[in-house]
Amino acid sequence: MDRPMDSYVEPPEHKDGTPTTSRSDTRNVQPVTPDPRQNEKKERPSHPSHGYSREDFDHSPLLVFYEVTRACDLVCTHCRASAMPHPARDQLTPAQSAALLEELSRFPKPPMVVLTGGDPMKRPDLLDLIAHGRHVGIRMAVTPSPTPLMTEKAVAAMKEAGACGFGVSLDGACHKTHDTFRGIEGSHALSLEMIRWAGDVGLPVQVNTTVFAANLEELVPLADMLETLPVQMWSVFFLVPVGRARHARRLSARQYERVFELLFTESRRRPYAVKSTEAPHYRRFVMQKLGLSPEEAPQQIYGLSKQAPVGTNDGRGVMFVSHTGEIYPSGFLPLMCGKFPADSPVTVYREHDVFVSLRDADKLQGKCGMCEYRGVCGGSRARAYAVYGDAMAPEPDCVYIPEAWMKARRHRKSSDSQQ
Ligand code: SF4
Repeated sequence: MDRPMDSYVEPPEHKDGTPTTSRSDTRNVQPVTPDPRQNEKKERPSHPSHGYSREDFDHSPLLVFYEVTRACDLVCTHCRASAMPHPARDQLTPAQSAALLEELSRFPKPPMVVLTGGDPMKRPDLLDLIAHGRHVGIRMAVTPSPTPLMTEKAVAAMKEAGACGFGVSLDGACHKTHDTFRGIEGSHALSLEMIRWAGDVGLPVQVNTTVFAANLEELVPLADMLETLPVQMWSVFFLVPVGRARHARRLSARQYERVFELLFTESRRRPYAVKSTEAPHYRRFVMQKLGLSPEEAPQQIYGLSKQAPVGTNDGRGVMFVSHTGEIYPSGFLPLMCGKFPADSPVTVYREHDVFVSLRDADKLQGKCGMCEYRGVCGGSRARAYAVYGDAMAPEPDCVYIPEAWMKARRHRKSSDSQQ
């Protein structure tokens, strides 16, 4: 399966500004100096989350990922869905899928629906679904897999049907790296073609890159390559150990910081927007870098820049519906909260205990629960669940040590030594 275009999710784009004096803790991060080139930058496309506030996430997600099928001809090593060659027998029917889109249009702020998989091209009614979504007032995006089903004509037909976003995965600057991850030779070359085809018909492209220890050195060459392509957004995904990625080696928390530094640098010098996925602590990194305190960050990060998307997290601004209608807080957090058509995704998102808890940063545990950045970050809930079996546990791959957490530890130690 191609990784969902969780796109258009999360923060990363941030205001490129000069540093201010800060009350925030910058022990781990060096603040930036003014970038004289920032005024020369090209105008970037505005982010689809523009116009959303964090309060909106209590009633409406920004993004719904609808896994239209698990069928896919690829065998990606880190596939979340453990995709298979044929559709499941209990996959939602075309009529049920259309009804799902109608239901999603009932959110007070209708989300963008990203048709993902498996490979959405394995759904014969894909164009009908795109057109129906548009008809009921939903913005539709697609993340097809690079297989022979994908042609220039197919991309043009998606645009014609009403798609407004197109996600393509690229996991390396060179063919070998990408094709090894994807399990099929020629996948890299076809992905580049897909990007160009989408650009030719004016379909906005998001490139999704999964970061591994093995492709760290290729991130800058990849960023260079994207500049030569019609790309609006580069989304860098930090692995969550689920599906076929369950046994993959995670980056260390220190390596996360190195990638954050790289993303921050690239976001200031590239014509396309840059974002992280399943790494909300990139927001903390950016705030530290810009010298913003957690209190001022929501306004500074979310309010000022046309580029600044609202920060999402699993179940907060994001929802996932599986090929059989199961409803989850995200595609990486396997806590089933309902099943369509028996359950309404609108009611589940707004009222189910799991969703409501995930949106309450004060319910976080461990160091995330004591962190001053918990409201804007909160850590990846999916990774916490995958590693600790508890969706409210602390993010396992964040280097930051909150002052309150340090104090509590010191207090505990001194109480223990007095006993
Ligand atoms: S400790 Fe948790 S809330 Fe704080 S920055 Fe790290 S991941 Fe985010």
